[in-house]
Amino acid sequence: MATKTTATKTKKKTVTKALKFKDVKKIKIKTIDPDIATQKGLFNEGCYGSGCNDICCEYGCDVDYASYKLILKHKKLIEPLIKAKVEDCFSTELKVDDDYIGGGFRETAVRDSDERCAFHLRKKKGCSLFYLWMTKGLTKRLIPTICRTYPITWHRGHLFVDRPLRSICKCLESSGGKKVPSLYETQKKEVKALFDLPKNELSKIEQIVKDK
Ligand code: SF4
Ligand code: SF4
Repeated sequence: MATKTTATKTKKKTVTKALKFKDVKKIKIKTIDPDIATQKGLFNEGCYGSGCNDICCEYGCDVDYASYKLILKHKKLIEPLIKAKVEDCFSTELKVDDDYIGGGFRETAVRDSDERCAFHLRKKKGCSLFYLWMTKGLTKRLIPTICRTYPITWHRGHLFVDRPLRSICKCLESSGGKKVPSLYETQKKEVKALFDLPKNELSKIEQIVKDK
């Protein structure tokens, strides 16, 4: 806590270096792992139809700077759902990084009570940010990129499946012998909205899907 010493009449100044964020609108991808087109996807109702108990929220996530600003803007709607202050929902400081939309990110904290990300709904399935997008019509940008595309992820220009997949993830569930769409197909809308994808890499992926 900052204190003011009246005896010496000196004021401690906190010098905060202003962070400079690049205005990243889409994350730049150079290579795409063909694995995303062969791995079974989040078929039928996807995550909502899965009995996984949202296990992939157990470590929290990186929140893009663009989403972070919206989370702060809508904190009055979020806080009653998570029963916590938004300011207490992060485990790291904001960092500049142009591998994220908005040019930076901040990591979420994990709750002790249920070992889920601080933005997970209390005592029920689902995420408060997805919930507000679905029920209140807030922009989808409120939801971090990783949570919209998972288990497809990225790192420094490479798009790939985040392996090992959780054994209870929907995309490892039996489809009873029925042909189901690949991860690329179930996540395609999000992937295209959030990443700047090279045409040649994308056509290779589309071809794999066609040849299946
Ligand atoms: S932001 Fe939502 S979807 Fe993402 S890890 Fe946290 S609770 Fe899960
Ligand atoms: S990605 Fe897999 S583990 Fe995560 S919520 Fe969806 S079905 Fe569950």
